[in-house]
Amino acid sequence: MAAVDLYTIPLRQIRGVGAEKAKELDALGLHSVGQLLEYYPFRYEDYRLRDLTEVKDGEKITIQGTLYGEPVLSVYGRSKSRLTVRLMTGGRFLITAVWFNRHYMKDKLTPGKEIVVSGKWEEKRQTIIVSSSEFPEAAGDKARTGTLQPVYSTAEGITQTFLRKVIRQALVQFGDKIGEVLPEELVERYRFITRKEAVAVLHQPTDAREGQAARRRMVYEELFLFQLKVQAYRLLNRTKADGVPHKVDRPKVRDFVRRLPFTLTHSQKQVIAEILDDLEAPHAMNRLLQGDVGAGKTVVAAAGLYAVITAGAQGALMVPTEILAEQHKASLERLFEGFGVQIALLTGSLTDKQRKDALAALQMGLTDILVGTHALIQEDVFFRNLGLVVTDEQHRFGVQQRGILRRKGMNPDVLSMTATPIPRTLAITAFGDLDISTLKELPKGRKPILTYSVTHDKMDRVLGFIRQEVGKGRQAYVVCPLIEESEKLDVQNAIDVHVQLMQAFPDLRIGLLHGRMSSQEKDEIMTAFKENQVHVLVSTTVIEVGVDVPNATLMIIYDAVRFGLSQLHQLRGRVGRSELQSYCVLIADPKNEIAKERLKVMTETNDGFEIARRDLELRGPGDFFGTKQSGLPEFKVADLVSDFEVLEQAREDAAELVAEPRFWTAAELAPLREFLNRDVPEGGEPLD
Ligand code: ADP
Ligand code: MG
Repeated sequence: MAAVDLYTIPLRQIRGVGAEKAKELDALGLHSVGQLLEYYPFRYEDYRLRDLTEVKDGEKITIQGTLYGEPVLSVYGRSKSRLTVRLMTGGRFLITAVWFNRHYMKDKLTPGKEIVVSGKWEEKRQTIIVSSSEFPEAAGDKARTGTLQPVYSTAEGITQTFLRKVIRQALVQFGDKIGEVLPEELVERYRFITRKEAVAVLHQPTDAREGQAARRRMVYEELFLFQLKVQAYRLLNRTKADGVPHKVDRPKVRDFVRRLPFTLTHSQKQVIAEILDDLEAPHAMNRLLQGDVGAGKTVVAAAGLYAVITAGAQGALMVPTEILAEQHKASLERLFEGFGVQIALLTGSLTDKQRKDALAALQMGLTDILVGTHALIQEDVFFRNLGLVVTDEQHRFGVQQRGILRRKGMNPDVLSMTATPIPRTLAITAFGDLDISTLKELPKGRKPILTYSVTHDKMDRVLGFIRQEVGKGRQAYVVCPLIEESEKLDVQNAIDVHVQLMQAFPDLRIGLLHGRMSSQEKDEIMTAFKENQVHVLVSTTVIEVGVDVPNATLMIIYDAVRFGLSQLHQLRGRVGRSELQSYCVLIADPKNEIAKERLKVMTETNDGFEIARRDLELRGPGDFFGTKQSGLPEFKVADLVSDFEVLEQAREDAAELVAEPRFWTAAELAPLREFLNRDVPEGGEPLD
C-alpha cells in the first residue's frame, strides 16, 4: 500500500521465525507480515493493578503486595500440592495467596519481597487463587503488570506466548511501515488515529480509551473497504448496459393492476414502479424484494412478469419446492385470467413426453411464463427470449445460477423475493450489491395473528381449539418438527400425530403431508386442503414457505423450541392470510432461557423485521442465515450487531466516493483502487 507492501513480506523476515514456525503460522492462514499484523486478539487479559476495596467476590484481579511471613506447602497425592502465603497489600490488608500444584514457587517466596499476583478473588476467605505471578524487580521491561495482554486464537502447535512474541516482534520491525489506506479526508473527518497507531494499539493497548479509539478506526476501515468493493461493483453494474431495455407497455400493466380483485397497498405500487423502471433501463436488474409473510409479493412478481411479456419477452418464476410451483402456477393463472398469458409448469414429476412438449413450447416462445423449481434454468431448458427471472423464497439467486444464465447467452433481469426479513445491517452486507425493495405494510384489514405458547400437558385445550375453529368452517395446520439427522424419526412423529388426531376427531378429515411423499401425493393433499376437503393438515416444515390457503386460521406447532425464530415466523405466516382472525399455538416445554425468549418474542410481536432483529441478537450474525451460503463476510474487528451504525456510515461514504470521478483516476487513491481487487471479505460477486 505505502512504499512497502507488507503483504509481500514473508514471515521468515521476522526475527525468531524460522521455516518451521512460518509453516505453523501458515496453518492459521497467515502467510505474510501484513496478514500477521492484522491477526488481532479477540480479547485481552487485564493485568492492571486493582485496589482490593473495589473488587467483587469471584472477579479475576491483579494486585501487588509484600510477602508477609513464610510460605506453607502441603503436598497431597502424587502430584497435588497447595502453597499458601500471606500478603500485605495496600499497606493495610493482610490476605492469603494460594498456588495449586506449583510447589516450585515456594523457594521464590521470600518474606519482604514485592510480588504481583493475578487470579480469582474469594472475598469470604480473603484469598486470591493465583493463576500467574510476577516479581516487579525481576521483570524489567518485559513486565506484564499494568498491561492488557492480547489473547489470540491459537491452533495446534502454536502457543499464546509464541503468538504474542512474534506479533510484538513484527510490530518492532515493521510497525513503522504500516501505511494508511483510508482517504485522508475521511481520517480527518472522523478524527481517526492513523492506521499504524491503531494496529499497534489493538495488539498492545495500554488503556481502554486508547483501545476504543483503535477499534473505532479499524471497524470503520474494515466496513468501509468492504462497502467500497460492494458499491464499486454496484455502480459498475448499474452503468453497464448489460441488460435489455424492455419496451414495457405501461398502459397494459396499469390495466392489469386495475383489474385485480383488490387494491394494491402503497408499497406494492411503489415496488412495481421500481421494477418497471429497472426493466426499461439498459442495465440488468438485480433486485431483492423483501416483504413479510403475507405482504403480497406474488402479485408484485406477476406485475413484473406481465410487464416483460408486454415487451415481447418471457418470464420465469423459480421456487424451492414443487408444492409452491403448483401453487404459484395456479395463482398466476387466476391473476392473468382473460389476459391471454400462457403459463407452463416444469417440475420433476412431468412425464418425459410432457416435459418435451413443455420445452418445445418454451423454445418456440409459445410459453410466456415458466414456473418451476431451480431446474428450470438448467440443462436442456432454452427460452426463446428470457427477460425476467423471479425467484421466490430463496435466500438468494446464487452467483452460480446467474453464471449459468450468462453462459447460455442470457442476462435477464432478476428479482429475488424473500419473506425472511433480513435486518437492514445484514441486508446491506450480504446483499449490498443488490437494489433492495421492501413491502412495508400488509394488505388492509389483516388482523394480527394471536399467538399463545402452551406446554405439552395442555393438549386437551389445543384439541378443543382445533374443534372450535373447524366448527366455524376454518382449517388448521399442525406442524411437527423435522430434523435432518433423524429425519425418519421425525417423519414418524408427524405420522403419529396424524393417527392421534384421526382418533381424536373421527368425524373430521385429517390430512398428512411430508417430504417423503411423492409429488403426486403431495399435490393431491394440498389441493384437497385448498378446497377445504381436508380440515386439519398435519405436516412437517414442507409447508414452511409460501403456501397460501387463506381459509386456514389456526397454526399449531409441536415442539416449537426446535425451530428458530425466523422459521417459526414463516410457519405462523401460513395463517392470517385473509381478514379472518387467526391464531398460532406454540407447544413447547422450554428448557433454557434462549428457548423461553424465542417463545416470548413470538407471542409479543407479528412484525417480521422485529423478529429478525431479535433473532439476530439471540443468535449472532454468523448463525443468522444458518451456515450454508450465508453470503456474509467474516470481519476481523467489526461486529454486525453492535457496529451497524458504523456500517451505515461507511456504506454512505463508500457510495459517495465511488460516485466521484476522481475515485477512478486520482493518483493518491490508487492504493484504494488496488484494494478493490485484493482479497477482502466477499459480499457480492467478485469484480470482473
Ligand atoms: P407473500 O408475500 O407471503 O408471498 P402472497 O403473495 O402469497 O404473500 O399474498 C398473500 C395473500 O394476500 C394472497 O392471498 C394474495 O392474493 C393476497 N393479497 C396480496 N395483495 C393484496 C392486497 N393488496 N390486498 C388484499 N389482498 C392481497
Ligand atoms: Mg409468497
